[in-house]
Amino acid sequence: MGNMVAIVGRPNVGKSTFFNRLIQRREAIVDSVSGVTRDRNYGKTDWNGREFSVIDTGGYVIGSDDVFETEIDKQVELAIEEADVIVFVVDVTSGITPADQDVAKLLRKSNKPVVMAVNKVDSNKNLLDATEFYSLGLGEYYTISAINGSGSGDLLDAVVEALPEAVEEDEEDLPKFTVVGRPNAGKSSFINALIGEDRYIVTDIAGTTRDSIDTRYNRFGFDFKLVDTAGIRKKSKVKENLEFYSVMRSVRAIEHADVCIIIFDANRGFDGQVENIFWLAERNRKGIVILANKWDLIEKETNTIKNFETEIRERISPFTDVPIVFISVLNKQRIYKAIETAVEVYKNRSKKIKTRVLNETMLPLIEQNPPPAIKGKYVKIKYITQLPTPQPQFAFFCNLPQYVKDSYKRYLENQLRKNFDFHGVPISIYMRKK
Ligand code: GDP
Ligand code: GDP
Repeated sequence: MGNMVAIVGRPNVGKSTFFNRLIQRREAIVDSVSGVTRDRNYGKTDWNGREFSVIDTGGYVIGSDDVFETEIDKQVELAIEEADVIVFVVDVTSGITPADQDVAKLLRKSNKPVVMAVNKVDSNKNLLDATEFYSLGLGEYYTISAINGSGSGDLLDAVVEALPEAVEEDEEDLPKFTVVGRPNAGKSSFINALIGEDRYIVTDIAGTTRDSIDTRYNRFGFDFKLVDTAGIRKKSKVKENLEFYSVMRSVRAIEHADVCIIIFDANRGFDGQVENIFWLAERNRKGIVILANKWDLIEKETNTIKNFETEIRERISPFTDVPIVFISVLNKQRIYKAIETAVEVYKNRSKKIKTRVLNETMLPLIEQNPPPAIKGKYVKIKYITQLPTPQPQFAFFCNLPQYVKDSYKRYLENQLRKNFDFHGVPISIYMRKK
């Protein structure tokens, strides 16, 4: 779990085409309930039974052909730092360019596994042209056509081969609450304010990732680890690329979390970047709490909180069943309420509904409002079970699963939420043939 593959290369070689091809198959399934895909640059896929995240670094480079090489270099350096395997994409139709040579040089210096993809080999015609890429000094290459999909199997074999051995998850398996957000949202201040009360700290455990420190924390009769994703500003080369870097870092942190505490600066608002972090957490099926911080700086009128809430819920629709807490770390206002809420979300996420209760509750509701008939065919849902997964997933057994539309799945999801509290928790619904 938690392996990351970064796709690097200069603009226009086909990185995003390749990226889309990789994650498409899977996204189609994962997003069938939640709706549209929002973050074009990050997704998950699997190959030969190994699951990994893929990040398209090109999505973060501004400009096109004439983009500054230094800009590309920076993305590549960050990718080298954060990713487990790098897929370096080059373009057979243009041959080797100075920018390719530049990237190759950085990659040769790194000790990260690199898999080179010579793209746009749409037919055997330009197979021979690919040989020139040997001169980049990165060893074997794989010819692919991101457009028609050829060659990607061999390439993925090589990628999976290069991934580090799968390791068992953490020692004690304490619940992990990860604090994420844009730079300067108040993440470190929040954690410091919490652990400032040192009677609650049990131990400090050095984090598994550099920079991030897991603090064991015991409060409300609940023992958990707080994971800090701040502490990234100190690196000089990171400064100009903070956003990209924090996305990479957030991806990692979110994948290991049970609950993501998404903190944003209320003064700046819940913007697109915060939204991306939200969808990362949602897509990874993590519990979510939203904290609107720096509430002390906001001028309050009668409906201020309500208006804020409405605005946020519009952005996170259709997954709006998420707690939002308005806090001021500076004034220590509602910071414990925030943690208490995270504990509740954790409990909701671990909740197991007994099959009998589930069926007694849901079947009558389904009978009252059955799936609409399609082409004269009636869908009959026979029974429901919750799957034994760490996060809530429900299987609805029926005669014609393929006829159940997303809108009806959303109805089922809403009923589950209404009857069993899943506040802050993404739930998955599968229709299964019976
Ligand atoms: P990026 O900037 O590296 O992300 O490149 P894009 O994925 O946006 O692709 C740049 C251009 O190359 C687009 O016009 C794609 O349609 C085209 N392209 C991508 N992959 C292939 C391929 O395998 N064969 C051909 N012929 N064109 C491709
Ligand atoms: P991080 O980058 O997310 O870890 O953010 P920091 O914790 O370093 O906070 C960034 C800045 O916001 C610092 O100057 C903090 O003092 C300030 N800050 C944090 N929380 C609050 C708050 O509740 N109110 C105000 N006014 N400032 C805050």
